[in-house]
Amino acid sequence: MSTVSSTRSSETAVKARISEVPSPEGRFGSFGGQYVPETLMAALRQLEEVYESVRQDRAFWDELRGLFATLVGRPTPLYKAERLSAYAAELAGKSGQRGNGATIWLKREDLAHTGAHKINNTLGQGLLTKRMGKPRIIAETGAGQHGVASATAAAHLGLKCDVYMGSEDVRRQRLNVIRMKILGARVIEVDSGSRTLKDATNEAMRDWMGSVDDTHYIIGSVVGPHPFPMIVRDFQSIIGTECKAQCLRYMGRLPDAVVACVGGGSNAAGIFYPFIDDDKVKLIGVEAGGRSNNQGDHAAPLSFGSPGVLHGSLSYVLQNGDGQTANVHSCSAGLDYPGVGPEHSYWKDSGRVTYTAATDEQALDAFTMLANTEGIIPALETSHAIAEGVRLAASMKNDQHLVINCSGRGDKDVEEAARLLGLRAK
Ligand SMILES: *Cc1c(COP(=O)(O)O)cnc(C)c1O
Repeated sequence: MSTVSSTRSSETAVKARISEVPSPEGRFGSFGGQYVPETLMAALRQLEEVYESVRQDRAFWDELRGLFATLVGRPTPLYKAERLSAYAAELAGKSGQRGNGATIWLKREDLAHTGAHKINNTLGQGLLTKRMGKPRIIAETGAGQHGVASATAAAHLGLKCDVYMGSEDVRRQRLNVIRMKILGARVIEVDSGSRTLKDATNEAMRDWMGSVDDTHYIIGSVVGPHPFPMIVRDFQSIIGTECKAQCLRYMGRLPDAVVACVGGGSNAAGIFYPFIDDDKVKLIGVEAGGRSNNQGDHAAPLSFGSPGVLHGSLSYVLQNGDGQTANVHSCSAGLDYPGVGPEHSYWKDSGRVTYTAATDEQALDAFTMLANTEGIIPALETSHAIAEGVRLAASMKNDQHLVINCSGRGDKDVEEAARLLGLRAK
């Protein structure tokens, strides 16, 4: 894998209104672009064209909004987590900051149909597939959430669906494999490399090179070559758009901070983007800190990586000295990826968003904490955001408000959590 160093040459792009990216060439500052073989350029151009045409097309967005309302169950609630807030206040008291602790709110993407935010993107791209007249979609999946959301969109829209999944993940996420099959999708096991998400993505791209005429590749996050990072961000922005209106209704103003976990970065981009020009709203992305800061023990490219090309775009990547993609680890399969969306790299370098990492242990503690305080079992991915959100709320004043994006529910993770927590059914 070749590495292209980022020169931050486009100072002007960084100084421009931060919401006005990407450039027509698909750049977020110096990040993004289209690092793909010639065979895929025609497909990317076709996708750019169809997306340009639907951007102004009310019928398209009305159809998508209709599906959001009736199939997905949107808007998802903004939930005031009073007991979790009290827990954060208690933490503040213990560290000598009595009277402190912000009110914590959860944006409940875990209540979206299929259990996570992924469905917002797959329905949007599914409708684009129909517009292009293609009968088949393919997708990559790690934890299986994007695979299930793709299979659901395909079933609803009458499309054929093949999902690439590493054989290690097939073993770890059996339940989601069965869900995809019930929904009528074919699951193709990938036996190369570490047999996880990165390898599944490689295979899906390989398939697409030979099938672009009748197939659309639904990428599951704000990664990949332009225009995918922009399209996925736009479809996921429904999260932040709803959240902003709900904050104004319930708090009478915008929140002081918004926290989200970052794998490829789609749930974070979705909730951050509508707030990006609101300078007073602090935005915090939380990566997977894994079991240590050593390479191979985490999946935190914005915290520990360097600019490089992975899966068609320039962004922060975890790589070794030769530019080879590094091995990654996280307790959550959905964050177990060595790259991140290019817009996050741009937001990091411009200073608009702060990125940090939560460890496996902190995430597991937060998983149990949210279950015990609020009766909500979050996904292990989401638990990383909960961990950082509670820590941050404890350092804030009690008239402040903090929103955590509750990106998904934890049903898929109960077996893994039981193993990690040493729980037995009997
Ligand atoms: C897939 C997934 C993530 C990570 O993906 P992003 O693109 O970073 O959002 C986070 N949370 C849940 C519940 C997921 O299913």
